[in-house]
Amino acid sequence: AYNFCAGPAILPTEVLQQAREEMLDWRGTGMSVMEMSHRSGEFVAIAKEAERDLRDLAGVSDDYAVLFMQGGASSQFATVPLNLLGDKSSADYINTGIWSKKAIAEASRFADVNVAASSEADGFTTVPDQSVWHTNPDAAYLHYTPNETIGGLEYDFIPESGSVPLVADMSSTILSRPLDISRFGLIYAGAQKNIGPSGLVVVIIRKDLLGQARAQTPTMLNYQVIADNDSMYNTPATYSWYLAGLVFKWLKARGGVQAMGEINRRKADKLYGYIDASDFYANPIEPRFRSWMNVPFTLADDSLNSAFLKGAEERGLLNLKGHRTVGGMRASIYNAMPEDGIDALIDYMQTFEKERA
Ligand code: PLP
Repeated sequence: AYNFCAGPAILPTEVLQQAREEMLDWRGTGMSVMEMSHRSGEFVAIAKEAERDLRDLAGVSDDYAVLFMQGGASSQFATVPLNLLGDKSSADYINTGIWSKKAIAEASRFADVNVAASSEADGFTTVPDQSVWHTNPDAAYLHYTPNETIGGLEYDFIPESGSVPLVADMSSTILSRPLDISRFGLIYAGAQKNIGPSGLVVVIIRKDLLGQARAQTPTMLNYQVIADNDSMYNTPATYSWYLAGLVFKWLKARGGVQAMGEINRRKADKLYGYIDASDFYANPIEPRFRSWMNVPFTLADDSLNSAFLKGAEERGLLNLKGHRTVGGMRASIYNAMPEDGIDALIDYMQTFEKERA
């Protein structure tokens, strides 16, 4: 079966197989990783290796701390302003879809949010050109959502933010291709697309941005505290961290983000190419901003949706139903989706179109 789910936990089959083999007895220790003390030599080694592999893969220099936190990406919507506002009161946000809006709503509880640009009037089918953004040079940071998982909208550029730290919610695009980390002040990513199980959230933060959390910031949300304690201030999500480490090894063995980027581009080009060539399927996003990871599409006749989904499931093409707020279909094609999965989907779409159009 091919799982086109947008999340949680799209793990490569090989990783799940390895986890199964190691589940009861990790390398002769007589214990599952789940049962190890997080302070044990074995677990600390697993945790450190995962961090090292992530640094290698993503090209994260020593100028940045890498934190393995909990509470998903949604908890970061509050954690970011609590930590980064410092003595400022305002932050800039770009609104390109449902996840941007959630980040904006939560940040508004702590900061004067300036929505510097929005594509809401265009139905979130495009990214506003940076020349029309009304950013504030005195903002504490500039936040954007490089890939809108629900709308299937993805920036094809990294915004210029001058001396204002750039903050990105990379939940559904991290590790999908090479990225210049040095352009960012902070990146956060809920793990459950390209990294590992849900609940875990990875934060990559430039070290000079640590240490300015507001006094009332909960200890567990204070980046400095988490960094000082190697992400083990409390009991971390040990098993998720271990699984993330297996995913990082899997990625490295396949040529890392460079190779992944080429494969992901091919996968996306093929699927959008087919959608565009067909009169039966459609995708509304301006081509240059189409997501490589989440491909929403509609059928010419909405009343065929359930038949489409039923036939897909019978062929082992799972979770193609679009998000409830958008409707239609959505194929999420993260790193773990092999190219064969795209071929199988297109083959089914063609057959369905022939039968029903
Ligand atoms: N941001 C983006 C872009 C997402 O796609 C998601 C979840 O799908 C979230 C934030 C929320 O993540 P979590 O469920 O880990 O809180």
